[in-house]
Amino acid sequence: MDRRCFLSALAGTAVSGCAGFSPVGGDGPSALAITVDDFNLVHDGVMSGEARDTAIRRVLSAHGIQGAGFVAGKYVDAEVAPRVLGAWSADGHILGNHSFAHSYYSGSDPQGYMADIMKCDAILRPYAGFRKVFRFPFLAEGKTAQGRDELRRLLREAGYGFGYVTIDASDWFYASRLQARLKADANADPAPYRQAYLDHLWDRAVYYDDLAREVFGHRIIHTLLLHHNLTTGLFLDDALGMFKAKGWRLTDAAEAFAQPEFAQVHDSLPSGQSLVWAAAKASGRYKGRLRYPAEDSVYEAPKLDALGL
Ligand SMILES: [Zn+2]
Repeated sequence: MDRRCFLSALAGTAVSGCAGFSPVGGDGPSALAITVDDFNLVHDGVMSGEARDTAIRRVLSAHGIQGAGFVAGKYVDAEVAPRVLGAWSADGHILGNHSFAHSYYSGSDPQGYMADIMKCDAILRPYAGFRKVFRFPFLAEGKTAQGRDELRRLLREAGYGFGYVTIDASDWFYASRLQARLKADANADPAPYRQAYLDHLWDRAVYYDDLAREVFGHRIIHTLLLHHNLTTGLFLDDALGMFKAKGWRLTDAAEAFAQPEFAQVHDSLPSGQSLVWAAAKASGRYKGRLRYPAEDSVYEAPKLDALGL
């Protein structure tokens, strides 16, 4: 894209001669960045944690995008994790903080929770990819206004921003079902699981993209929540290919995090979930229309049961 088209894109205006590119915020394509959580680098029944990581990074690189990994400190061992986190840094991906213990933040002990976050900060700090972006485990930001606001204050004081998820999903549940199936029968065909997984991601992407346009009044660049698990290891390339085939633009996590919407906080309670969900909840315009939790296995189990998966 030439400079004139790039500037018109930034301004959200159309310029003739810039065909083939439509700015975010206009009628252009929806855009997506990939984020991968937890970094629990255990063997998933098919691949070792490190082999899975190589597969994930290879796909990101093949699509020319830099993602973000949100690392829970408890998974950082002495041997494998340093190689993996070093490779993420070398590939130009962001490494964000996902707490040490990966515990649920109820809002009851902000100081104690902040200490746990800083324990992970110390582990990640040596890596070049590390940025002070925090993502709450379970996307749970507190059940009380006091606990929510106090931890936000402590994070701001420590120089942290938020690594929000905009497209929340239950990839972990699809991975657990496939893993169980392969454990029972190593020759089981993963293809039906792949299709169900892709359908799930697409369903959630469309939902959150539509909701974002309603709530913010314009398109945002999305961050998709995936985990360092079997489905990401096996199907990430299929997922990215699907989004491209449906006209979405793939982009870097840094571009998503730089949006003004990612600097906002919302006073919804319970606090958290997807950024889009939180903004919708806080607007007060969606009474009775936002399920809680926004994503969970209870919504997905009947679908997979019906498919015999
Ligand atoms: Zn997590």
